[in-house]
Amino acid sequence: MLESATGGDDMDGAGSDITAETIAADIAFAVHEHRLAPGSKLSEDEVGHVFGVSRTVVRAALQRLAHDRLVELKRNRGAFVAQPSVTEAREVFEARALLEPRTARSAARRATPDDIGILQRHIDEEHAAVREGSAGRALYLSGRFHLEIARIADQATIAEFIGQLVSRSSLVIALYWERRGALCESHAHHALLRALAEHDGARAEELMQSHLVDLLTSLDLRNRTSAPTSLSQALKL
Ligand SMILES: [Zn+2]
Repeated sequence: MLESATGGDDMDGAGSDITAETIAADIAFAVHEHRLAPGSKLSEDEVGHVFGVSRTVVRAALQRLAHDRLVELKRNRGAFVAQPSVTEAREVFEARALLEPRTARSAARRATPDDIGILQRHIDEEHAAVREGSAGRALYLSGRFHLEIARIADQATIAEFIGQLVSRSSLVIALYWERRGALCESHAHHALLRALAEHDGARAEELMQSHLVDLLTSLDLRNRTSAPTSLSQALKL
């Protein structure tokens, strides 16, 4: 490698503690906030230059993002921010509808006053972002609200799945969202917060279910596809 671990003098001395993990997190954050659009090319040289790291580190970061399906690695063409298909878009929200309502029920049983405070802060920050016209930041914060609920439920494995699905939701929303103003309508999050504060698990589960159905039905998938992807799908077998 041209860039050695000790030779980063021209990189503001910041290169040493930048790992593939932190680069992957930074790129994921940019995707969440819609600063990086689906389909954007992620050139290894450019990413390496921005972060002041070697191609080896960049490749590890891109592999990690590809594993989380935020990035697509195309043979001989390089890495691109993923562009989920209509089928994937549906699958992401259907998977969330399977996982998150039960998680919300568990969270309602466990939520402490501190947890409720954290969720309330997320809602407040999201409102502030909307007021400032930072739609990307508001989107990111609305996703964090869902992740916090998984954290409160204390289900690490499920929380990891939900984390990946929430990330992929940002891509889906960037591609297929029609009525942006309706994203994670604040009344839905407020109602969830209330159910969690009152330890009403059944209500939390029901609210999360209807919230996710709302999100799925708000996606405009019509103009992207009309042909069924398989015969069995066409025949509804
Ligand atoms: Zn939401």
